[in-house]
Amino acid sequence: MNWEEFRHWGRRAADWAADYHAGLRKRPVRAQVAPGAILSALPDAPPEAAEAMQAIFDDFEQTIMPGMTHWQHPRFFAYFPANAAPVSVLAEYFVSAIAAQCMLWQTSPAATELETRVCDWMRQAVGLPDGFTGVIQDSASSATLCAVLTMRERALDWQGNKAGLSDHPRLRIYCSAEVHTSIDRAIWIAGIGEGNLIRIPTHGPHRAMDPEALQAAIAADRAAGHLPAGIIACTGGTSAGASDDIGAVMDVAEVEGLYTHVDAAWAGSAMICPEFRTLWAGVERADSVVLNPHKWLGAQFDCTTHFLRDPEDLVRTLAIQPEYLKTHGADGVVNYSEWSVPLGRRFRALKLWFLIRAHGLEGLRDMIRNHVTWAQDLAVRLDKTNGFEIVTAPMLSLFTFRHAPAGVQDLDQHNQDLVNRINADGRIYLTQTRIDGALVIRFQAGAFTATAEDVDMAYDVITELAEVSAKA
Ligand SMILES: *Cc1c(COP(=O)(O)O)cnc(C)c1O
Repeated sequence: MNWEEFRHWGRRAADWAADYHAGLRKRPVRAQVAPGAILSALPDAPPEAAEAMQAIFDDFEQTIMPGMTHWQHPRFFAYFPANAAPVSVLAEYFVSAIAAQCMLWQTSPAATELETRVCDWMRQAVGLPDGFTGVIQDSASSATLCAVLTMRERALDWQGNKAGLSDHPRLRIYCSAEVHTSIDRAIWIAGIGEGNLIRIPTHGPHRAMDPEALQAAIAADRAAGHLPAGIIACTGGTSAGASDDIGAVMDVAEVEGLYTHVDAAWAGSAMICPEFRTLWAGVERADSVVLNPHKWLGAQFDCTTHFLRDPEDLVRTLAIQPEYLKTHGADGVVNYSEWSVPLGRRFRALKLWFLIRAHGLEGLRDMIRNHVTWAQDLAVRLDKTNGFEIVTAPMLSLFTFRHAPAGVQDLDQHNQDLVNRINADGRIYLTQTRIDGALVIRFQAGAFTATAEDVDMAYDVITELAEVSAKA
């Protein structure tokens, strides 16, 4: 394809996208295909001769689309949302047409300076104080890895990168049992070792880490000759929205001189609404905070904002600066590749700029407030419905429940069957998790185009199929 042909196909793609979204409610949310079905429909060998775009497009529609799960479906209530507001999709279209590598200031000054500006917009939007500096990472997992590497280097007096980890005491990092698996993996990759990630017991309705237990674990580690390096707190854990008491964690961190990272990958978007900020009160004292506009806020994946109280620590950990990457003659410019693990960088700031401008913070707040209200209403309705119990109360728009009718022996199996039945039905999509050992069903409202009626349909589907499951 050349760019003249692209004119035609680009327009068709725009029409296709609008039609696809207009018809989403008619599609089953989760792909209804058997494992291997798509693979076996694809030719074993690559084509030697060029194929017509029309043939490729037909196969895309007929072979690929039936195997897609529709994350933009208004009745996607599984996992966390991965919203892609149309305006952010449009921005990505421009970004891929330009296809610049935005690793250094000079490799696209506008990309760097827009990134600086929109990160600061986001900082203000979520109420982080002046003085935090932001960078866009590809994912929260990467931001957390950056934070863990910084913890490591800072604790080792910046010697780990050069000297390795063998001649040092054991580094220790602390978190609750509710944190995302991206924390485990950051610890693995940083060479710290999973045995040195100390999980502090949680307590209370927010399933927050117990600050006294945290303090005691650090003291025990120091007594054993280990080297405490940092604390990872979470706001809005993946399973049930667990949220640490950030202020209490910071009290410990400040006394102990530890670097702190707050994982608010999902819940951070809700902080554009001032009334939810009590959930992460104390965050202004953290060293590093991550939140994903590519989840709830509507920025097309990938777009993670990572805020740092002092970016120097991160840059000192990651900057390498070989001669060919130096930006000669432009002192004082920011080279964001020194703030992240990959060198190459996509122009991710554009979609955030488009998104915030096209919706305004008020528009985005309305969406988030609606989701929170609708999820809470649904929790109340289910709680009042015979046979249902709310296991964890709504944290923003996320709660867990289970169906526990009298007479069912194996409740875990019964609820797993119910989730399977719901997802095979296709009208809504839910996932399960374990809370204190029990299998429970998760519900979160967060799709960009969801309406109150979509959430009502969730109630109808859940209660209807629970009846069927109980009889089966
Ligand atoms: C989704 C999520 C992550 C991982 O986010 P990625 O951007 O996919 O790496 C980490 N932590 C929490 C709490 C999450 O919800």
